[in-house]
Amino acid sequence: MSSSTRRDYYEVLGVGRDASPADVKAAYRRLAVKYHPDRNPDLPDAEEKFKEASEAYAVLSDPDKRARYDRFGHQGLGGEGFTGFDPAAFGDFADILGDLFGLGDFFGGRRRAGGRRSHRGHDLQYTLKLSLEEAATGVERSIRVPRLEACARCSGSGSEPGTSPETCATCHGAGQVAFQRGFLSVAQTCPTCSGTGRVNRSPCTECSGRGRSERQATLKVSVPAGVDTGMRLRLSGEGEGGVLGGPPGDLYVVIAIAEHDLFQRDGADLHLELPISVYQAMLGVAVPITTVLGEQREIEVPAGSQPADVLRVAGAGMPQVNARRRGDLHIHLRVSVPKKLSAEQRRLIQEVAELGGGFEPEADRGFFERLRRAFGGE
Ligand SMILES: [Zn+2]
Ligand SMILES: [Zn+2]
Repeated sequence: MSSSTRRDYYEVLGVGRDASPADVKAAYRRLAVKYHPDRNPDLPDAEEKFKEASEAYAVLSDPDKRARYDRFGHQGLGGEGFTGFDPAAFGDFADILGDLFGLGDFFGGRRRAGGRRSHRGHDLQYTLKLSLEEAATGVERSIRVPRLEACARCSGSGSEPGTSPETCATCHGAGQVAFQRGFLSVAQTCPTCSGTGRVNRSPCTECSGRGRSERQATLKVSVPAGVDTGMRLRLSGEGEGGVLGGPPGDLYVVIAIAEHDLFQRDGADLHLELPISVYQAMLGVAVPITTVLGEQREIEVPAGSQPADVLRVAGAGMPQVNARRRGDLHIHLRVSVPKKLSAEQRRLIQEVAELGGGFEPEADRGFFERLRRAFGGE
């Protein structure tokens, strides 16, 4: 490829000349996925395209080379613009391609020696269902969590106590073997040791050499008062056991609160529907209620309450996590009108109605006036 026929690097990556390093990286990632030779065995020019994108990226991701390229074009890079893959020059490729394709170091030879990949155990998630009352008071719960734990017999090493794995003869402990693939030297996980770099001649009898085994852990969870659905409690180090001596992950306990048949929750506030009769609404009534924390309260429904009235009882709602203030309880009156009246009731109510006064919709006289006009009155 002579420099005169080379495409512009920005054009290759499809980015503007003012593209940020992040843009350049993202553009390259896209092209690498699209044209990676391993993924496109049937696309004849995939390898060429991949190579071209890699070359453009090698230059544009290096501030120094990019500056020279911007000023002088391909000539500015002399011979070093792209002279095959020099692994030492392109450390960043391994990061990008490694997590794209799980190849580890795509360019081979640079992977750290040793190959014993100890790493942290996975985080686990456990959904803890609680009643609204439990959420209000806070609760201690025992939960049973199935999880992989580091093996007690071999302390997670996978070898029988007193023995240790030998360095793998195939990869000499690197965990990877390199092979040539066209213009690239590709590193592949060592088939003999599965990438661990060691061969275990006397696997632990307890875990069969895996270093971890499935256990049911019983854990105590302290749920503070006031939790809500979706809140997470972190139990540090109670996740999956680490691999080959790595630290354990964390356990996240996710709170899920069941619907309550009386209270509706809105953050720290609670809502309650209170059925009263029309007579109670007219005359007023004291109603005993029990709060979500089990406290007895007497609610004064005042005389003349209207069907949609809401009474607020300050501080009778939910406690809040890490806060002293409690939410409020909103009592929504549901006034029920009797559907049937006895002859005696009917006579008395008729009498009351004829007395007029407070039973006329005095305040709404203006409303009826407007209604009459709206429907074709004068
Ligand atoms: Zn073991
Ligand atoms: Zn090996």
